[in-house]
Amino acid sequence: MKKKLTGLLVILNFLVLAPVLATSYVGEIARQYVMLSLSLGEYESGYIDAYYGPEEWQKQAKEKKMPLKNIIIAAKSLQDVLIKEKSKDPLVKLRILYLKGQLNALVSKALMINGSINYDFDQEAKALYDTQPPHQELSSFQPILDELNRLVPGKKPLAKRIEEFQKQFIIPKEKVDVVFRAAIRACRERTKPFVNLLKNENFKLEYVTDKPWSGYNWYQGDSFSLIQVNTDLPIYIDRAVDLGCHEGYPGHHTYNGLLEANLVKKRGWVEFSVYPLFSPQSLIAEGSADFGIEMAFPGKERLVFERDTLYPLAGIKPELAELYVKVATLKEKLSYAGNEIARLYMNKKIDADKAAEMLHQYSLLSTDKSKQRVSFFDTYGAYIINYNWGRDLVKQWVHAGPDQTKAGRWKRFGQLLSSPRLPSSLN
Ligand SMILES: [Zn+2]
Repeated sequence: MKKKLTGLLVILNFLVLAPVLATSYVGEIARQYVMLSLSLGEYESGYIDAYYGPEEWQKQAKEKKMPLKNIIIAAKSLQDVLIKEKSKDPLVKLRILYLKGQLNALVSKALMINGSINYDFDQEAKALYDTQPPHQELSSFQPILDELNRLVPGKKPLAKRIEEFQKQFIIPKEKVDVVFRAAIRACRERTKPFVNLLKNENFKLEYVTDKPWSGYNWYQGDSFSLIQVNTDLPIYIDRAVDLGCHEGYPGHHTYNGLLEANLVKKRGWVEFSVYPLFSPQSLIAEGSADFGIEMAFPGKERLVFERDTLYPLAGIKPELAELYVKVATLKEKLSYAGNEIARLYMNKKIDADKAAEMLHQYSLLSTDKSKQRVSFFDTYGAYIINYNWGRDLVKQWVHAGPDQTKAGRWKRFGQLLSSPRLPSSLN
């Protein structure tokens, strides 16, 4: 019993000492936050998305396995101490807000895991991701569906027609790797002139199956990422640039590398050596990774690159590229219908079969992809809003910058990737 309470006692000792010492406690709070995050990670696999701090902290969290209720008490105590922290330095101010937001999510997640709270979709989005996603009537997507009806005419139901149309754009299995590597290279080349990529940065690309996601970046620390691609379902040509930018440049690999270099190594801000997946940081991570596609390939540049470079590599007819981009752009707008369906499903208004059927009907996902998406909802809950809603929030913030030249936008985007900014600080 005593052994199990050690983590809490460390915090309580610190809280007793805190008023005596006339200094800032942010560094100590940050250290305790890392320990509590690792401790909570012991209760849910996948909670800790990345950790590259001291190994003994991880070991300590595993061995002591702090009781959930103590994690909650300790995190709340840290929040109380944090309220008194003030700074004139804008970056330190963001750091304090970051710790507040992350601790708030940590408490919420711990309450969810021990079953003492049951959030609906919007409550979860607020509690874990520090945001209020928009609501849209499903009927409001009808004009987009009508437009797609015109672009891909025929007698069969629209979702079926779209699925058949898209078959022409599947990358043959044996060409996936060469196409993906070409796309990642291009994403890197387009990011490098504007973002300080680290000298030793690198990644490994792997192909996996049987996952609820289509791609994943496992950041390993020291500027190295393991990027995995799920090959369960057919891979369409536009996935290459999506993946290259989202998981690589200027997405997750770049973001994690910059946080590590600028905040962990340069400033000693240990809280960035841990990345709890169900936290506000994910909205910035996913949002910037998705908006990163537009940063690297603004305007028609993506179409030109895909048509002239990737289509020939994949053996797909380049003359179809323009129509495919039109269809894909409209389909992307339908991703917000997916958020509405996720809300209905998580709020127990519809069951899994109905959710898959509606994703097929409104988001025009293939039958198999719809099922994969429902399994994503099961695993990750309201996390889905971090992609499209996160992207739109990040886009708004970048577009609100004082310098709207290409270099100016990259500068602002780079600032976001190198600072402790959370969704509620995106204004
Ligand atoms: Zn991602």
